[in-house]
Amino acid sequence: MEKRMPRAIALDTHLAFLVLAVLFCAMGSFLAIEFLSRMHRARSSAKMNWLFVSAIMLGASIWASHVFAIKWLAGPLSSFNPSGEAIPLLAALGLVTAGFGLVVWKPQALAEAGGLLVAVGIVTTKSLVLVAGSAFVRFPLGFDNTAVSWLGTAALCVAALSMAVRTARWYTHAVSTFLLVAAIGYACFGIEAADFPSSTAAATNIGAFQTVLIIMSAVLGTALVAYNIENQSRREAIESLKNLSVIDSLTGLSNREALKAHILTLTRVTDPSTEMFSVLAFNLNRFRIINDVHGSEAGDFLLKTVAGRITAALGPNEAVFRVGGDEFYVVKAAIHRRADASTFATKLLDILAEPILWSATKLDISASIGISLFPSGSAKADDLMMQADLAMCRAKLKNVNEVVFFDAAVDRVKRDMNALAIDLRKAIDNEEFELHYQPQHSAQDRRLVGFEALVRWNHPMRGMVSPADFIPLAEKTGMITEIGAWVIREAALAAATWPESLKVAVNVSAIQIAGDDFPDIVLDAILRANIEPGRLELEITESGIIGDFRHAMAILNRLKGLGCTIAMDDFGTGYSSMATFKRFPFDKIKIDRAFIQDLATNIDSQAIVNATLALGKTLAIKVLAEGVEEESQLDILNDAGCNEVQGYFFGKPMPMAQVDLYLKASKDLIRDAADTGSNVVVLRKTV
Ligand code: C2E
Ligand code: CA
Ligand code: CA
Repeated sequence: MEKRMPRAIALDTHLAFLVLAVLFCAMGSFLAIEFLSRMHRARSSAKMNWLFVSAIMLGASIWASHVFAIKWLAGPLSSFNPSGEAIPLLAALGLVTAGFGLVVWKPQALAEAGGLLVAVGIVTTKSLVLVAGSAFVRFPLGFDNTAVSWLGTAALCVAALSMAVRTARWYTHAVSTFLLVAAIGYACFGIEAADFPSSTAAATNIGAFQTVLIIMSAVLGTALVAYNIENQSRREAIESLKNLSVIDSLTGLSNREALKAHILTLTRVTDPSTEMFSVLAFNLNRFRIINDVHGSEAGDFLLKTVAGRITAALGPNEAVFRVGGDEFYVVKAAIHRRADASTFATKLLDILAEPILWSATKLDISASIGISLFPSGSAKADDLMMQADLAMCRAKLKNVNEVVFFDAAVDRVKRDMNALAIDLRKAIDNEEFELHYQPQHSAQDRRLVGFEALVRWNHPMRGMVSPADFIPLAEKTGMITEIGAWVIREAALAAATWPESLKVAVNVSAIQIAGDDFPDIVLDAILRANIEPGRLELEITESGIIGDFRHAMAILNRLKGLGCTIAMDDFGTGYSSMATFKRFPFDKIKIDRAFIQDLATNIDSQAIVNATLALGKTLAIKVLAEGVEEESQLDILNDAGCNEVQGYFFGKPMPMAQVDLYLKASKDLIRDAADTGSNVVVLRKTV
């Protein structure tokens, strides 16, 4: 065995070899980490291609950087034996391929095992390069430099691959690259000049190193080109998606189809183990009212401004879509925590809360945002959009300016209700509402005096949904404002087609009164229909005024100022205080049907009916009894001095077409009565 003497390493020679070693090592590591993270996001068919490209590149880089590093370390002592180098090169390629194979096979479970295998590849390659150069190969003898270098290489490799696979930010990839470079470099730790046989010094063949340099440049150059082509086509795909999707000519935003395509793309490129993306849904509270009151130009301006403001605030990986009237979705990709999505949502709410100036009018809007996250159960675009929508409905139930995440457990329970709430939002646009009208008659002469408008929802799947089921939901979600405005408009238009003596009564919810612009909506309806304001009666319940009494009184006074009449609905069921009547001059009291149904038998009901009639007489307010189903009830009420009645005895709420027949019949009956000289019109269950 050759005698080894400690000799100084010839640092002064061929610094270029060190530069080349570091260069190959860095380039190979950078590309390998990039490819690795892409590889494990790729669909299975593309995975194999990435695996081979990245393994060949890293394997070759490990081998070449050791060839050059050792040449640098040993200086003229090292030699290069081209035929012997095939073995370390093959070992490098084989072991790195196996390591990457493990990572690709099960990225989550086996990333670190893959890292360990790559470390074995590095150490083996280094040792075989030494063998090929006829140098002495050390194995760890206890805890010596060689052991430290092996362990260090293993630890660095495991950390590098683990980070590459489990994180997705550019700086974590930079750290992974650095760790991999360190792992390759660290393998050379402990090599001494003494390990190289001095006898081979003369055999140094610079030409062979040049060949390695050329081949490696070709390998890395090709890989770099592949990397750029991949990046370019990714950018182009995203760009073409954007171009394809700019369809909304009003705002210039992408539409629903584009949103779906965008989400689909994200589900493919997002690595669920390391990153998430979020879908945020919101619509603009009060948009429809602004549209109705200030005109569609104001509405368009509002949408354009909102779209512009959001677009201006978007950063990389963020995109906004307008999918319908005032419905928007914003997608934020490449996030790592739920908090990233909620912080972003809060930022959007702030943007939306800024008032918008429309020809000297301040338009106030607000929103509530629902968020769904990927990964979480479903990877379908439709599901993620639906989940964000469900969360938004829950956000609206809570408050305006609320941010709510989709929660499968909570939302499953509420799904039915929320699904109904989602449908409710579309019901106006889809013209699923209609009004039915229930006749109101004078108790004394049974003359027709008007109709109460009662809203009906013809749901495309569920059929007729009772207002008792959806009005509370509409109130909770705030949608009652829009629905109520539609009801008033529609009822006024219907009344315009009736004889002028007939009134139309419309139910008004407390939520509608709570808004400032309710009188504007009423005025708008009256002007559009061109009816006498006195023909429009607004029915409110006590709940409509007990919340913010002063505000309610101000609104009711403005309504009376327009000339409308106000009726107190469902009287007897609430708190019913005399003070309310003293402080506000109602035009009518409607006794709840609960007291009419058992009027003949229940003395409590009789007491309440009589007290109400007495109150009406004292304060000079008309009293109408609801739920009159039998003639006997009508007679009792008439005898007691009740002014008006309404109920199945005269007619159930009926669609507009039937109202026309009803009107015709009552006209004929009135004429008949006049012809016979009778001054009492006997009108029965006409239709
Ligand atoms: P309401 O204002 O007390 O309306 C009267 C309800 O009693 C109507 O039920 C009507 O169909 C029913 N009814 C009328 N006469 C009789 C009768 O003789 N016997 C019986 N058993 N029932 C009778 P509907 O249409 O289901 O409406 C229920 C409630 O929904 C209404 O009670 C009202 O509070 C609310 N609602 C209906 N339309 C609207 C609307 O456009 N806006 C608002 N905010 N609420 C509405
Ligand atoms: Ca009513
Ligand atoms: Ca009522």
